[in-house]
Amino acid sequence: MNTQPFVIRFLQDLIRIPSPSGKEEQVVRRVAQEMDATGAFDAVWFDQLGNVIGEIGSGRVNVLLDAHIDTVGVGDRGRWEHDPFAAEIVNGQLVGRGAVDEKPAMACMLYGAAAVSKRCREQLKVYVVGSVLEEDCDGYPLEHLIEEEGVRPDYVVLGEPTDLNVYRGQRGRMELTVLVRGTAAHGAHCDRGDNAVYKMAPIISEIESLHARLRHDALLGKGSITISRIESTSPSLCSVADSCTIYLDRRLTRGETKETAIAELEGLPSVQRVQAQVAVRRYHGVAWTGRAVNREAYFPSWVLDDDHPLVRVALAAAEEVNPRPPRLGVWTFSTNGVATMGRYGIPTVGYAPGREELAHSVHEAVAVEDVITAVRFYTKLLERLALQV
Ligand SMILES: [Zn+2]
Repeated sequence: MNTQPFVIRFLQDLIRIPSPSGKEEQVVRRVAQEMDATGAFDAVWFDQLGNVIGEIGSGRVNVLLDAHIDTVGVGDRGRWEHDPFAAEIVNGQLVGRGAVDEKPAMACMLYGAAAVSKRCREQLKVYVVGSVLEEDCDGYPLEHLIEEEGVRPDYVVLGEPTDLNVYRGQRGRMELTVLVRGTAAHGAHCDRGDNAVYKMAPIISEIESLHARLRHDALLGKGSITISRIESTSPSLCSVADSCTIYLDRRLTRGETKETAIAELEGLPSVQRVQAQVAVRRYHGVAWTGRAVNREAYFPSWVLDDDHPLVRVALAAAEEVNPRPPRLGVWTFSTNGVATMGRYGIPTVGYAPGREELAHSVHEAVAVEDVITAVRFYTKLLERLALQV
């Protein structure tokens, strides 16, 4: 059977159904319907978080193919040259929100696994997952599957865009706050107060210098820190500020962890002088199923060795199907790998069509030809993994 028209039509359907994080119900139901329609899956189910999971086989090696099916918003719709939800094909490019990040992976993994289901079911147990909430809380959907739904993958393949290359890591990230307390007083008697904003000022300067000295890693790049927001409180606009909080975006390169990043901030002389409080923020969200999510906003960096068997198998599969030689790389942004490899050490790689730099932009588009190549990749990857068992 030539599945090409099915894959592209299915992908167009996925793009036509808006699915911002937390509102993915309609799109995951569409995925489940397609899984059922192929007849290749032994079971198709939703977990409590609202991830959709299709299972194939009963082998002893568990392979999890993950495509998150939530997307970011479209921003200013007037800036899109084509309707972000029309899924038009223009000069061989399928255009729309999610056309790179990362609805193609869902279509390709589903059809790639379905094509091989008869040949690999003895050796492998394959989970094809359409995960939710990734854009808001990367890693959490797979952490939920592992911690609470009893899924125990031996290998994970992520469908974040790699432009048909094989990726094996990323910088981590975390969200932090620094809080300084002061003492309020009437603005007319400001010398009686202790202004928290003034106490924060030297901390801001020291964070700017801290960024410059953060470590550089040849593969993942440099760690970074930047202030994304500043807030203060006061009894009124005619008063001395009694607290000041800054919000920090921290990107973690190889070797940097939550502990080292906190210790660095707590060690700043300006922080110690005023006894500022450094804390990791928490993510609060609600899944489409109604389940509340309350999670520390820490997403560890990770790298899988370039000679790991999963990397070698993925490269060999990509070499077999790609129109151009694949290269090994890493993502600039963050992925669900922060949970699988970052937290649990489960070997994780990524392969998908689409260019990472188009993600979240008004130019999001993927080459139809590359989508077809990626379907073949997932089939070849599973065949090769089955041979190794
Ligand atoms: Zn993504």
